[in-house]
Amino acid sequence: MKARELKKKYFDFFTKKGHKKLPNVSLVPEDISSSALFISAGMHPLIPFLLGEPHPLGKRLVSNQRCIRTGDIEEVGDPLHLTFFEMLGNWSLGDYWKEEQISWSLEFLTKVLKIPQEKISVSCFTGDKDAPRDEESARIWRKVGIPKERIYFFGKKENWWGPVEDTGPCGPDSEMFIDTGRKSCGPKCDPSCQCGKYFEVWNDVFMEYNKTKDGKYVPLKQKNVDTGMGVERVLTIMQGKDDIFLIDEFEPIIKQLEKRLGVEYGLNNEITKSLRIIADHLKASVFLISDNVRPSNKEQGYVLRRLLRRSAFKAYSIDPKFSSKDFKSLVEVIVGIYPDYFQGINSDEVMAEVSLEIRKIRKTIERGLKEIKKHSTITGKIAFDLYQSYGFPLEMTEEIAQERGQKIDIKVFESEFKKHQELSRTASAGMFKSGLADHSEEVTKLHTATHLLNAALKQVLGSHVFQKGSNVTAKRLRFDFPNPEKLTPEQIKKVEDLVNQRIKENLPVKMEMMTLEEAKKMGAAAVFGEKYGEKVKVYSVGPLTSSGRPFSVEVCGGPHVDFTGKLGKFKIIKQEAVGSGTRRLYAVLE
Ligand code: ATP
Ligand code: MG
Repeated sequence: MKARELKKKYFDFFTKKGHKKLPNVSLVPEDISSSALFISAGMHPLIPFLLGEPHPLGKRLVSNQRCIRTGDIEEVGDPLHLTFFEMLGNWSLGDYWKEEQISWSLEFLTKVLKIPQEKISVSCFTGDKDAPRDEESARIWRKVGIPKERIYFFGKKENWWGPVEDTGPCGPDSEMFIDTGRKSCGPKCDPSCQCGKYFEVWNDVFMEYNKTKDGKYVPLKQKNVDTGMGVERVLTIMQGKDDIFLIDEFEPIIKQLEKRLGVEYGLNNEITKSLRIIADHLKASVFLISDNVRPSNKEQGYVLRRLLRRSAFKAYSIDPKFSSKDFKSLVEVIVGIYPDYFQGINSDEVMAEVSLEIRKIRKTIERGLKEIKKHSTITGKIAFDLYQSYGFPLEMTEEIAQERGQKIDIKVFESEFKKHQELSRTASAGMFKSGLADHSEEVTKLHTATHLLNAALKQVLGSHVFQKGSNVTAKRLRFDFPNPEKLTPEQIKKVEDLVNQRIKENLPVKMEMMTLEEAKKMGAAAVFGEKYGEKVKVYSVGPLTSSGRPFSVEVCGGPHVDFTGKLGKFKIIKQEAVGSGTRRLYAVLE
């Protein structure tokens, strides 16, 4: 079975059950108030609706969503984890519940995919002080035919979802595993083990609690079902494999690497792991670039850089001659695996980006090697400095030390690394707050104010204005746009007045779903990663201007206030230049 067929079967199954199809959106969240770097699950773009905002397509939804999980980078190398993968999912927004979802899950796996029922195990939440054991799900699993020996109970770590931050919707989940037939890794091996015997293919999340500020778990009014099925995981099973890198979405990449590097996949653990990392990281990079991420030193661009770097290092350590040309031909192979996806994408540009970055990385490697040569003894501190300033991984430094008959004091490296990690963890914890908690009233208001500001700037300064960058916190908004000169006090006053006038008029903020083409026709600002034919959300605020278009109209993920009157008084508090020709404004609502 190929991915295309699996997706079709999933969509057919759930559309027959009244689900409406959602678009496959960009890996980079388009919701500007979201501080998560990437879409990491199909539910991610649905957060406002899981919180109760009515979805324009109804209460039953289905999607196939591309995902990036940076948190799984360290796992890549095992038989079942990827950083880039696709997720099928279906949702009930306060509609059907456990009975339907569990019986449909089993029906899909056994009747549609024809996976023998004996190979399926499931897990349910075991219960703790916060919430009771999920007997309801277990009972339904037994009722539909899963014997109790194959129903496992695990704790929060395995079988609980959310909340994303400290408070919010959360609940038990129930996961489905397929026995790949691999020998079990020991007497303790069960579906929670990651050795590759059991493949977790699907997770049914039952959002039924709201965790409150005082740490209580209160039953939710709107109970949601949120599910996620890994496309590559299911394909592994359907293609009779026990290793995700053996499916047809990876095989050509691995084959090409084997041929070029003169090695054989599966013979030697180290080589196998390296080939998996090269293939996975490069594929993730290709998808990131096609979603308009470019290598840089911050945020998404930094993750992209790290993925390419790691991929290049692994290739370099097998063969130092593995060049940007070799990477280019691998990108060609990856594009060839996804003809549907790359139809409207300029793959030459993707190839050029990869090969440019790889050339830089190869220089880094060579510089690092030169630096190492200057030291007669490689200490843990030197290893860490190389890692820190050149991105030179410990494995490479260790290998070089070994060749010289030296040994690096790993403890020193680790303690330096820990110090650094503490710092970056604090930074990324802040980053990873998914949109959820940030959909506070303050952020939502400032988000709507950002749209008004964008429109007002266009009216006052001219049509060259567009949103180059935006960032909203609970306290202020920040907005970057192209403009050659500093704004005069008069211009600032005009913009403020215009925004405040729109606020005073207490205009409704309307949301409609339409195709990207229709949105463009309406003159909607900003165009994101969706493909034609798929629906986007368009927010508009009247009144109509002389061009016949609403004052503000933007393609946007939301959320927004319903009436502008809720915003209060708008005030620009600061302006700056960022680079040449780009202005930055800070504004607040008083
Ligand atoms: P695992 O325990 O295997 O890491 P998870 O519990 O983190 O999986 P969920 O967050 O429930 O996974 O995601 C839903 C589904 O997405 C999983 O059942 C699996 O099929 C798939 N999936 C999750 N992480 C990955 C990954 N890193 N690579 C490939 N597929 C994945
Ligand atoms: Mg995981």
